[in-house]
Amino acid sequence: MPIPLKIAVCGASGRTGSRAAALAAGDPRFHLLARVDRGRAAEFEDQVGACGAVIDFSVPEATVRYAAACPRAKVPFISGTTGLSDVQRTQVAAGAKRAPVFLASNFSKGVTLMVHLAAEAARRLAGYDVALVEKHHKAKKDTPSGTALSLARAVMESRGAQEPVSTVSLRLGDVVGDHDLLFAGPFERLTIAHQAQSRDVFAQGALEAAVWVAKKKPGLYGMPDLLGLR
Ligand code: NAD
Repeated sequence: MPIPLKIAVCGASGRTGSRAAALAAGDPRFHLLARVDRGRAAEFEDQVGACGAVIDFSVPEATVRYAAACPRAKVPFISGTTGLSDVQRTQVAAGAKRAPVFLASNFSKGVTLMVHLAAEAARRLAGYDVALVEKHHKAKKDTPSGTALSLARAVMESRGAQEPVSTVSLRLGDVVGDHDLLFAGPFERLTIAHQAQSRDVFAQGALEAAVWVAKKKPGLYGMPDLLGLR
């Protein structure tokens, strides 16, 4: 039996972080060392050196703080927090010079493949109109979702286009996360659709990313690397 990976979960009281902590606590591959949340950042800084990886689902300002502590201790940092500004993302990514940093706006394998397919469809269906509809629960803070931004970026980069992808964001009920990407051309429409049925898909994905990235050299990684898509 391999030695369990010692992890801390930041944002551990939140909807997604609590699921990552619960799944880790029930999985022999992990030793859950710390559940970190608001007001316990100082405690985290004392514990981080004992961790084999840190998983974060919190808020951008907290992510930046947690991210800064990890490379100092040479500990891999895995974050799913969305809504980071370009400056915050650059600050987080800077840690990759000293330790592995794994960033994912969506830890689902299905969505990772969807982003890949979006680029392919945008290239093959040149000239077709593209639109995106995303639905999430009412408490979601960022709009459009980080996943919607990744899908739109994939389409725009694939086409070398400047104009943004028309996006509709709906906040309703307790929807975990739905994304529909539509391509419409003469006499036909193609829809690439994904529904997350439980937050466990993200929580489990982050745990798999931690196992994977814990063996890597310092660098910036994401779900396409884990799935061999680049
Ligand atoms: P949530 O509001 O339920 O949880 C956020 C957590 O952060 C809470 O535990 C809260 O106490 C903590 N927090 C808030 N302010 C803080 C501060 N200043 N310092 C430290 N901790 C603080 O949110 P959620 O739905 O779990 O989502 C968290 C983040 O993860 C969001 O950005 C969301 O978009 C993202 N998310 C990403 C994925 C993915 O696959 N990448 C999946 C789900 C959610």
